[in-house]
This record gives sequence, C-alpha cells and structure tokens, in this order.
Amino acid sequence: MYTDSHCHLENKRFDADRAEAFARAQAAGVTTMLAIGNGDGPGTGTLDCAIKLAHENPGVYATVGIHPHEAALATPADFDELRRLARDPKVIAWGEIGLDYFYDHSPRDVQQGVFVQQMEMARTAKLPIIIHCRPSDNSENAWDDLLRLIREHWAGSGLAGVLHCFTGTVDHARVALDLGFVLSFAGNITYPKAQNIRDAAAMAPLDRIFIETDSPYLAPVPHRGKRNEPAFVVETARQIGELRGLSREAIGAQTTANFYRFFGLVTQL
Ligand SMILES: [Zn+2]
Ligand SMILES: [Zn+2]
Repeated sequence: MYTDSHCHLENKRFDADRAEAFARAQAAGVTTMLAIGNGDGPGTGTLDCAIKLAHENPGVYATVGIHPHEAALATPADFDELRRLARDPKVIAWGEIGLDYFYDHSPRDVQQGVFVQQMEMARTAKLPIIIHCRPSDNSENAWDDLLRLIREHWAGSGLAGVLHCFTGTVDHARVALDLGFVLSFAGNITYPKAQNIRDAAAMAPLDRIFIETDSPYLAPVPHRGKRNEPAFVVETARQIGELRGLSREAIGAQTTANFYRFFGLVTQL
C-alpha cells in the first residue's frame, strides 16, 4: 500500500488517460493520493480543480492554494474564493505555497506577501500547509527567506506542514524537522546527482517522511523523461528502502500510516 502525497492530477497531460492512470495507481497499490489544487492559477476558474477530483475518486484528497509562480496574479476575490473552497470536507491542506526563486515567474516580494497571506488563511482554516521551495542556482536564498517567514508567521500556529519535493540539504532538513515539518520525497531522489536528497532521506526519522510523485513532473528512474503518474511512487519507496535497509513495501506502509496520522484521517488499513 502506497500514498502519493502530492500530484497534479488535473494537469492536461492526463486528459487523454486520467481514468487509466487512476487504474494503474490502484493496480500498483497506490490507494491514497493528495491532489494539489493550484490549477492554472488565479483568474482561470481552476482553483477548485483538486476538489472536483477528490469528490469523483475514492482515496483522493484535495488542497487549495496559489502557487508562487502565479502569486502576482492573485486578487482579493481569489483569496475569498480560497477561503470558501477550504471549507470543503475533502480539503485537508493548504498548498502548494512558498517561494520559487529559480523561475521568478512572480517578483520575490510579491511571492513572499502571498505566501504570508496564505499562511494566515491556512491558520484560520486550521489546515496544515504544503510548501514549495526552489532557490536560484548555487544559492540558498529561497531557503533562508522561507524558513524565516515560517518562523515568523507559522511556527506559533500549533499546526504542521510538509516540505514537498524536498531538495534541500541535511541542515535544511534538520531545521524543518525542528519546526515540526514532515519531509516529502519525490522521484528526483532516484537521480544520480541527487545525493543531498538521499542524505536527507537517510537521516530523517521514518515517521516524519512522505513519498510523492509531483505528477506529471519529475518521473523517477527508470521512467525519467516520461510523464510521471501516481503509480510510479513505488520507485521513490524503493529508493528510500535501499537507503534504509527496508523493502519498498515497508516504506509504502510506513509513509501511508504517516500520512493518515498527520492529516487525522481514518485509516483504510
Ligand atoms: Zn512544487
Ligand atoms: Zn507540485
């Protein structure tokens, strides 16, 4: 049994075979998925995309939120819509939110403001947050700003969070764990150059990790270069199992139990 803690199932790259992708996930033992609700961003009528999928598919839960890429497009009406959508019973987290200084699709000060505002909305909604953090090349700038903003605007909330597609250093992982965050590892942990990610996954307590695909992005070896899909989360489990001397099935069961405990869901086991 496996849980894909982060996937973009509404993405148009699934339009031709979404039902088949769900069937392949089931066949691989991927029984639980968290659909990320950023959609195409504010103003596109897609901020409810994950909620729709969660209501149509058993085992699928949803998030709402504005991605840092689209932060500059956010208006007060979008924030009102998110507040309303967050009350849907299938919504279990706010995200993905955070900072992306690699692409800089939105100005950094705007990304920071929209991130802080969404942390405040998540706190009011009593939802944990799903964090996206990508620094510019050869830099830790986004990590420095992200961890500072989390300390200032989230750490006192009593709520938890997830660092999705963790790509930081072991030191970043330690800081995040100390702040109460869970680390979610994606398919890029299988890439030859990703030793820092493997080091973090070998260090983190087993009850503080999730696995994810970030589908349709970042397909793991041996599917690298293809469209990613939830069934491939077993490759991330296999890689972490190799690091920890455990089977992929054991990692799947542990990370599924972690997911259910973290979100306070009734286990399907
Ligand atoms: Zn992301
Ligand atoms: Zn994502």
